[in-house]
Amino acid sequence: MKPILIIDPGHGGADSGGGSNSVWKEKDFNLRLSKYQYNRYRELDIPVAMTRMADLTLSPETRVKKVLDSGAKYCHSNHVNSGGGDGAEVIHSIHSNGKMAGMIADELSSEGQNVRRVFTRTLPTVSNQDYYYMNRKTGKVETIIIEYGFADSQRDDVPQLTNSWERYAEAVVRSFCKFTGYAYRSPVKRMEGFIGKRVESKVDGLRFYNRPSWSDGAVVNTIDKGIGFPEIVGKVRVGDGEQYKVHNSRGEIFYLTANSKYVLVL
Ligand SMILES: [Zn+2]
Repeated sequence: MKPILIIDPGHGGADSGGGSNSVWKEKDFNLRLSKYQYNRYRELDIPVAMTRMADLTLSPETRVKKVLDSGAKYCHSNHVNSGGGDGAEVIHSIHSNGKMAGMIADELSSEGQNVRRVFTRTLPTVSNQDYYYMNRKTGKVETIIIEYGFADSQRDDVPQLTNSWERYAEAVVRSFCKFTGYAYRSPVKRMEGFIGKRVESKVDGLRFYNRPSWSDGAVVNTIDKGIGFPEIVGKVRVGDGEQYKVHNSRGEIFYLTANSKYVLVL
């Protein structure tokens, strides 16, 4: 089926991209985020394509050709900015009314990323042509360049993009659904196998705790072999080990080892 959207992970191969820093190369950041979106659109049954699925060098002409050949109506070109600012920028064509760009900006800001600007820019000498190559050369395709933040931000973009890139990627998926009218569903939280299950001790005198800790001061009591808790609600890393977060029949929260040497999940 012809895609409605083609995602363009900016740069690639020999071109690392200017939005690189000591934490990431822009080309890798763009690809990871784009692949996330690609998989999400497929989950949502929205026909989607990519200009590259791997670390490939694409000339500007090849990139544009891929967009045009795909038959897609929309193109999202994913990038990371540089130049010392902070926040997202969404760039649309001078031939677009900017509605989708504005919706992308709104969703990004609802996920906590500040939006620096939504804008459009013309060639200095030709006022009816877009300044940015991807906007200018993709013809009837409505291309939006999304700069998720600044690689060299002095404010919070580097930790934000490091920790929250999935949320920003998802924000764009959500705004695309809103704009086009496709049904949107949140990503399914991949439930880990132990959630909701009973856990019981395999040994006598097993300690359980009032917080994620192994310290004597956090011990609530001990349980003997065969005694347990009705529901695991999570798992946390504590020091070198892991603990299940559980509750008892009264809904009180406790922690105990997740080591299968000592506990059994049923
Ligand atoms: Zn870029």
